[in-house]
Amino acid sequence: MKKITIAIDGHSSCGKSTMAKDLAREVGYIYVDTGAMYRSVTLFALRNNMFCEDGSIKTEELKKRLGQIHIEFRLNAETGRPDTYLNGECVEQEIRSLEVSNHVSPIATLAFVREALVAQQQQMGRDKGVVMDGRDIGTVVFPNAELKIFVTASAEVRAQRRYDELQAKGMPADYADILKNVQERDYIDSHREVSPLRKADDAIELDNSNMTIAEQKQWLLEQFKKHSEE
Ligand code: C5P
Repeated sequence: MKKITIAIDGHSSCGKSTMAKDLAREVGYIYVDTGAMYRSVTLFALRNNMFCEDGSIKTEELKKRLGQIHIEFRLNAETGRPDTYLNGECVEQEIRSLEVSNHVSPIATLAFVREALVAQQQQMGRDKGVVMDGRDIGTVVFPNAELKIFVTASAEVRAQRRYDELQAKGMPADYADILKNVQERDYIDSHREVSPLRKADDAIELDNSNMTIAEQKQWLLEQFKKHSEE
């Protein structure tokens, strides 16, 4: 079996990261959640008052301070999954809040932010043996990835999943607000000028609206086996 690069792209809250994390753990690959990186930059911008009242971003200020944002992933021994650290602080919970979700897509439209994060992602995956999930992995970060998956599901199914996830963690959740956020992020992510969300021509599409997590896991493992055979 050869070591390959696996790119998993798709819409918000469609279960990409659960699939990607499970596969990485099962086959002993590194998992990189690129959404967590855009969320960390957003958290930094929120904490440092870089959003104006009207929602616009103080881009010059963010550009100046981008070099001060250090993002890394450290394995959590208890969960067996990587946690996101922003400048040495574990922000795994905070970056999943609705406040961050509501501000992340405009941050992800900024070319200088994408350029910096894409370079870090390419560095993280330079030796292959990586499962990376995001929006532009198969199109921009690793256009030569051996296995590309494009995951999707209806907005309602995705909002329900995010609602259940927040409830399970005891975090505040309102279904209508979440659905609105999912639809808005879909729109911004697909219509932005730089690296819009789109399926790579050679990606395999998976609509998982009616699939269980176990079924998705099995399906992905079969794809992995097929594509990593010598
Ligand atoms: O995957 P997740 O929903 O956590 O990503 C949060 C946001 O980060 C997305 O809605 C998108 O705006 C942005 N993103 C991106 N490119 C990536 C990963 C995430 O633009 N590769």
